[in-house]
Amino acid sequence: MILISACLLGENCKYSGGNNENAHLISLLKDKEIIAVCPEELGGLPTPRPPAEIISKAEIDAGTETGIELSTDLCLGNVKICLQDGQDVTEQFLKGAFCTQKIAQDYPITLAIMKERSPSCGVDQIYDGTFTGKTIPGSGITTSLLKKMGIPVISEETPLTDELLALITEASD
Ligand code: SF4
Repeated sequence: MILISACLLGENCKYSGGNNENAHLISLLKDKEIIAVCPEELGGLPTPRPPAEIISKAEIDAGTETGIELSTDLCLGNVKICLQDGQDVTEQFLKGAFCTQKIAQDYPITLAIMKERSPSCGVDQIYDGTFTGKTIPGSGITTSLLKKMGIPVISEETPLTDELLALITEASD
């Protein structure tokens, strides 16, 4: 069974109130067993909502802005997610991530397809916490937890190789 970021399927759960509909993925996953989640809505955040970015508490304390080691920082409680005005929304983001983790535990999820660069769903890149559009290597909060569970996670930008197509077919059997 495949877990997928709901906005990729056209659900209007994006912070702006829109979506990230991906027609190719929708077509590919037609007739497949999938579960769509929006971790930020699961965490109790409204839609629309102001954009948020991941900031590492350790890096803030050190006076720098990059170098987030999210999987380690999550374990150490060193992760902070903020709106541009500085409002701390870490609790809601963590709640959404843990709700998604519970879904992945309760269902036979063997692959996740998540939205790149989101502070929840990003797979290989996230915004750097400065709200300037700059990205850094890293994963969103929810994706980090899924990876820690050992679930393979790809983004909608991952090239669809034959190997990956076989994984998608296998995951939805
Ligand atoms: Fe929700 Fe993730 Fe899509 Fe953001 S990227 S709208 S958290 S599903």
